[in-house]
Amino acid sequence: MLRVGLTGGIGAGKSTVSALLAAHGAVVIDYDRLAREIVEPGRPALAVIAARFGDGVIGADGTLDRPALGSIVFGDPEALSDLNGITHPAIRDLAAEREASAGPDAIVVHDNPLLVEMGADAHCDVVVVVDVPVEVQVDRLVTIRGMSADEARARIAAQAPRDTRTGAADLVIDNTGPEGELARIVGGVWDELASVAAARREPDGD
Ligand code: ATP
Repeated sequence: MLRVGLTGGIGAGKSTVSALLAAHGAVVIDYDRLAREIVEPGRPALAVIAARFGDGVIGADGTLDRPALGSIVFGDPEALSDLNGITHPAIRDLAAEREASAGPDAIVVHDNPLLVEMGADAHCDVVVVVDVPVEVQVDRLVTIRGMSADEARARIAAQAPRDTRTGAADLVIDNTGPEGELARIVGGVWDELASVAAARREPDGD
């Protein structure tokens, strides 16, 4: 198995790359989805969150009230750190479960916006970062997602800086060009990943 970490700043194109890699045959583990799964009603993490932050973060239907929780942790580093201390281990465990069910020859892509922030890049065989200049990020968030430029900048500022992410990368995908160009670049990245995976399967590989 080859464990690939995939990350990128908000709106940089990570999900687009992830979908392209899946089309080539990668087994993709989507951490945004895991983050939602671990707080579904009945999951232990939801009860721990309610115990720490109060029943006000649970809606009338028993699901997590994300805006209520967001307003508690936004701008409060200690509260955010407590929340991460509850969610990150649960996400890691679920990811490990999903990875264990992939075949031994699989190329498993951990599609994780917080790969670097969680320190999970250290556990990957190959770290791929989708990168665009901040101005391109802002432009796409404004034109495609309908955010205000201020909101886009605030969300970008809440993430690890661009250099920190690219500094952790084995491969940087420049997504400044059109989507067709991205598909071509990802095709090349897939070929590289496949050849690394094949080399590891050789009797002399590690
Ligand atoms: P988030 O971190 O918010 O999930 P993301 O990094 O996964 O974002 P995507 O959802 O892949 O980003 O891309 C953001 C938007 O930009 C999407 O609507 C996508 O179709 C579009 N997009 C991706 N790449 C390009 C490109 N090269 N040119 C123009 N638009 C693009």
